[in-house]
Amino acid sequence: MKTGRADTGEAQNRAGQPLSDALVVFGFSGDLAHKKVIPALYAMVKSGALAVPVIGVASSKWSTAQWHRHVRESIEQSGALDEAVFDRLVSLITYVSGDYRDAQTFAHLKAALGDAQRPAHYLAIPPSLFANVIRSLGDSGLAEGARVIVEKPFGRDLASARELNAIAQSVFPEASIFRIDHFLGKDAIMNILYFRFANSFLEPIWNRNHVASVQVTMSEAFGIGARGAFYESAGCLRDVVENHLFQIVALLAMEPPAYQSFEAVHHAKASVLRAMQALSRDDLLRGQYDGYRNEKNVAADSDVETYCAVRLGIDSWRWGGVPWYLRAGKKLPTTALEVRVQLRAPPQHLFDDAGPDAGHTNYLRFRLQPGSTIALAARIKQPGKAFRGEQRELCLHEEASGEDPTYERLLASAMAGDDALYTSQEAVEAAWAVVDPVLVDHHAALPYAPGTWGPREADALIAADGGWHNPS
Ligand code: NDP
Repeated sequence: MKTGRADTGEAQNRAGQPLSDALVVFGFSGDLAHKKVIPALYAMVKSGALAVPVIGVASSKWSTAQWHRHVRESIEQSGALDEAVFDRLVSLITYVSGDYRDAQTFAHLKAALGDAQRPAHYLAIPPSLFANVIRSLGDSGLAEGARVIVEKPFGRDLASARELNAIAQSVFPEASIFRIDHFLGKDAIMNILYFRFANSFLEPIWNRNHVASVQVTMSEAFGIGARGAFYESAGCLRDVVENHLFQIVALLAMEPPAYQSFEAVHHAKASVLRAMQALSRDDLLRGQYDGYRNEKNVAADSDVETYCAVRLGIDSWRWGGVPWYLRAGKKLPTTALEVRVQLRAPPQHLFDDAGPDAGHTNYLRFRLQPGSTIALAARIKQPGKAFRGEQRELCLHEEASGEDPTYERLLASAMAGDDALYTSQEAVEAAWAVVDPVLVDHHAALPYAPGTWGPREADALIAADGGWHNPS
């Protein structure tokens, strides 16, 4: 795949994009930096993918010894630490302490950037500060020749996403804005695109004539942990459905890209999101696990959903009439992400257990985490005189989960000007437009017991299509 961006510059990658000559990590002391970003920087230094200055910016007033300890702990928590690589990493880092609402912070950042001409600014910060920091980068002259990488969520509804896009585009050209949906950097999810378009056997059946329904389940066995304040302002629909699950639907439902370029992939995915029917209150079932209201920083009368199930329609020639069922939730029985594409039953009643109403239809299953599996289920006759069969899965691909290079991949590609793993303005706004009506107009969240598959009422949403299939 080729990148669609054309640009000129000094140090360039193979696609002709100029390479960023510094990386600024806003939110250096935060949770995401600790869990993902610093380990990714370490891995990049180790592999030789990172050799430019890194400036960490946050409000904590840390001495050198303190931020060294922070970096060390973060790496050690994610795996083994090699002292030589650690030394190389810290030799690249400068730490700037300051408030993002203070112009002085950006003056200090400018000084720390020294001769860098094309920095990449990564905003791993509370979303309420995205606009503020982007504007300050512009005002302080730090946006020129630079790129900006914006963490999720990009907006909290359609209006705020549009506003943030307008602010970002008033400071950076669109080609320099990288909106993160880290799911797009995961191998198993990248494989959906590859599997669909590197094989020809799928295309003839990949439509409303052969697909009866599609289910996507993202279950998490854990609760909100210490992120109560964040979760109260987000909820499950905003946190994972509108972005991660919609991106998966877009990859599954998109038309073949018109030409060999990630620009064409972006257009094809955005077309799916635009064709999604806006949700109405009966398309969404919200749930809340028992005990959520007792979590730290959660309101005693909170109606924020920790579970949601959605019935979605895509108004296109390919998918008209095919229901897409998405569900996600916390404190469910297991942690898994799985897609099940349910194929139509044979039209004739030749066998008792394989006719139109027998309910045992073929399906294609994509396990997206943990690990990665693609399996095709088909019916096989059991030995014996009777024509009775069973469903067997033909496993096309099965990989246990290994190291997760998602953030290395995302940062390296943004620093190389490659937006293949990022979302476009069009896609972000189209996704918000689908959920916008139900962000305010929805039924109350229904209670469910931790360790169950959510409120029982969610079964009714999908009853007409054979019920939910729970990932093991
Ligand atoms: P945290 O609250 O843990 O970290 C926020 C960071 O921003 C800290 O480094 C904090 O500095 C800094 N900061 C906040 N306000 C200011 C300010 N006014 N001036 C200077 N620095 C400031 O947030 P997370 O790391 O959890 O999240 C960051 C982003 O990543 C968010 O957009 C979130 O949605 C996204 N994200 C987070 C995930 C996670 O698992 N945590 C997963 C996926 C996305 P200090 O602490 O020094 O005050």
